[in-house]
Amino acid sequence: MAADLWAGVELGGTHCNCVLGTGPHDLRARVSLRTADPAATLAAIAGVLGRWRDRFGAPAAIGVASFGPIDLRPDSRGYGRIGATPKPGWRDVDVLDFFAARFAAPVRITTDVIGAALAEGRWGGARELADFAYVTVGTGVGVGLIVGGRPVLGCHHPELGHVRIARLAGDEWPGSCPFHGDCVEGLASGPAIEARSGRAAASLPADSPVWDTVTHALAQLAHALVVSVAPRRILMGGGVLSARPHLLGAIREGLARSLNGYLRIEEVASGLDRYIVPPGLGALAGPLGALAAAADDAARR
Ligand code: ADP
Ligand code: ZN
Repeated sequence: MAADLWAGVELGGTHCNCVLGTGPHDLRARVSLRTADPAATLAAIAGVLGRWRDRFGAPAAIGVASFGPIDLRPDSRGYGRIGATPKPGWRDVDVLDFFAARFAAPVRITTDVIGAALAEGRWGGARELADFAYVTVGTGVGVGLIVGGRPVLGCHHPELGHVRIARLAGDEWPGSCPFHGDCVEGLASGPAIEARSGRAAASLPADSPVWDTVTHALAQLAHALVVSVAPRRILMGGGVLSARPHLLGAIREGLARSLNGYLRIEEVASGLDRYIVPPGLGALAGPLGALAAAADDAARR
């Protein structure tokens, strides 16, 4: 019987990860597939889940953590559907319905970054915290915002990677976001670093001045988070920051400079090195995010 097991599906731009288990120390099965067109990709994932059901029994729930945008409004006709993604063929794909039509277990859906935040809250670097932010800096800049123990979901999931910021003095590079130019994602994502420097982010020397513009943008994002929802901790990871963990120091300093003594918040004043920290789950945050979505009763509507 597997009534206590959760199945998780992380839908990513290049790979999809399927996991079965109850948490990071109890993963019973894991399969990674290349993301192709929606019909082939979803059929392959359904095949994996079907084989697991036959072998382990039906899971308690299936969690899906997907690249966005996704409609997460339970009262919307498009609930569980992918929105205006540039990924060919994926726009308007009804992911929730695909799995709900094929499996008896409840299906719970969220975004990849909200899933990762839920996983960090359950098993990783934000355990016991009701209010925190998970920031990933990779192909894009994404923020999973948990307030009062729940992901913030208004009329759309927040997209704080696209917040506009005060620019670093003297920096007039227009930024790489196709919608906003110099939003945080347009200044600090891997592709932004590459567009500005003209070389792969992984090969950019540690003393390149481009890093100052990246840490400035991320410190400004942290400022916006502090003055809006005052998270108790900000986890910052993703492909760029996990490869360059020393950047967190400059981000902390930039946040302190930017706040300029405003707000007497103990967490911020007394221990920025405990306030802005790397995520606890590393590369497992993605697949565990899907498992956390499955485990999350409130994600079921
Ligand atoms: P995704 O956002 O698609 O999940 P990742 O979080 O893995 O992807 O981040 C991928 C990004 O990380 C790429 O844009 C890449 O340029 C950047 N990256 C990978 N290695 C390094 C490195 N050593 N230094 C800086 N950036 C890196
Ligand atoms: Zn933008």
